[in-house]
Amino acid sequence: MVCRHKALHMVSVFLLFAPHPMVTLQPLTHITFPSQRPQGKTPPPPPSAPPRARPLQPKPIAASSRSTARPPAVTAGVGGGWGREVHRINCWNRFQALRMKLLMVLFVSTIAGCCAGSISSAPRLLLVSFDGFRADYLETYNLPHLQELIEDGVLVKQVTNAFITKTFPNHYSIVTGLYEESHGIVANDMYDPDAKKKFSQFNDSDPFWWNEAVPIWVTNQQQRNGTSAAAMWPGTDVRINNSTPRFFMKYNFSVTFEERVENIIRWMNSSDPVVNFATLYWEEPDASGHKYGPNDTVNMRRVLEQVDQHVGFLTSKLKASGLWDAINVIITSDHGMAQCSPKQLIVLDNCIGRGNYTLIDRSPVAAVLPKNDKKYVYNLLKQCDDRHMKVYLKEEIPDRFHYRHNKRIQPIILIADEGWTIVQSEGLSKLGDHGYDNTLPSMHPFLAAHGPAFRRGFQQSTINNVDIYPLMCHILGLTPQPHNGTLSHTKCLLADQWCIHLPEAIGIVIGGLLVLTTFTCIVTVITKSRVAPPRPFSRLQLQSDDDDPLIG
Ligand SMILES: [Zn+2]
Repeated sequence: MVCRHKALHMVSVFLLFAPHPMVTLQPLTHITFPSQRPQGKTPPPPPSAPPRARPLQPKPIAASSRSTARPPAVTAGVGGGWGREVHRINCWNRFQALRMKLLMVLFVSTIAGCCAGSISSAPRLLLVSFDGFRADYLETYNLPHLQELIEDGVLVKQVTNAFITKTFPNHYSIVTGLYEESHGIVANDMYDPDAKKKFSQFNDSDPFWWNEAVPIWVTNQQQRNGTSAAAMWPGTDVRINNSTPRFFMKYNFSVTFEERVENIIRWMNSSDPVVNFATLYWEEPDASGHKYGPNDTVNMRRVLEQVDQHVGFLTSKLKASGLWDAINVIITSDHGMAQCSPKQLIVLDNCIGRGNYTLIDRSPVAAVLPKNDKKYVYNLLKQCDDRHMKVYLKEEIPDRFHYRHNKRIQPIILIADEGWTIVQSEGLSKLGDHGYDNTLPSMHPFLAAHGPAFRRGFQQSTINNVDIYPLMCHILGLTPQPHNGTLSHTKCLLADQWCIHLPEAIGIVIGGLLVLTTFTCIVTVITKSRVAPPRPFSRLQLQSDDDDPLIG
């Protein structure tokens, strides 16, 4: 289609601006000017001038080869008689009609071409999450497909995620750029005291929970006529702000990775509409991390090799469909994983009767709703296990967590230390868990990206996961919603951004000063060496006819 447009353009442009065949055949002396044109024939317009970039400073149309396209009127008697003259005029009229048609065709095809071009060349982005992919898995295991993508793209070694480091909250932070207190998905299990509603991962489709923020797939469809698609990302099958992605799959963990990718490829290959933003979600290595614990390197190696095979499947499908070089792909995750142990349990029943509180969320960040006396419950919990768990009243939660200003955050929260599990009386149900303090490296995922928007072979130590949102908006050309991220944190990942770090900037300034100083010294030395040596005094010689200057 594009080639056809180009060919049409070339023919149209050639015919539009080509010199009149009669003109080229006539000797220059035969060309006359408008006053000599046959009556009733309006002179053909000059070829259209190029669009003026600065209307206030019109550029005169230079005499160029285009000016030879001006059709000549041929004076009677010079061109060879009236019959021939009429023939020439008819030819000229036909040529003019043809040229007008071609002009129209050129105009229409240019508009069509521009539109087609703008759609096909519009930035496109695929956001992929492998749940629970801890940052250091990249170094511990051999993952050739992922490494290949990274070598040809960018890597952020550790992404500082949002507190609490759980799945639903962090997936929503990535696509909104908001801390959890601001987007409202504050846990995998929540209770809203005003609405008296409960949220869990098995009961997550009520828009009420999601409507405190606008995820990027909604903004993408509201701005610039974008089309979004989702092969399962938390929230993508919910009508958030009255909108779902144009294409989405209802969450179903039994749908294979290959099936999800096939859907993504089908949607992104469609030209009507052009999907410019898509998400893809996969449950591993999170599920195995919980089951075996991240320290079980035998099982985790097997799982991570499967994940790497999935990356290979995705890239091979993108390459086979011709999308690989055209789209941007971000692969990241929501959190890491910490090793747990049956020997590291904090048993609440040992400290407080269950009748005093409701446990909204469990471990490692327990959300406690006291039934009556908040202070009484707080004091009992505070004495429970202060060596392995921190207890906060909601208003005391440290600022760095950005986890206070939302009614869905309960009046008391308990934060277990890394590897510890809060239970009421039950035993340990999983050997790996996440949700802990978001400054712990074990909670951090990574980010890798590839595509025309990204630099190649660049690595960066860290960003925040709320920075991913403005990065994605920048790539897609969207105006971001208010968010907690910082675009400049991800500037160095982008091919279209000038990237310089403070030490480099200081080096450049010092280097510049050194060069300037050296140059100044050289100039001074040269100037001094050029000063003429003092000449010996010589007496003024007077000509014989000169008057004596001192005698009137
Ligand atoms: Zn997760």
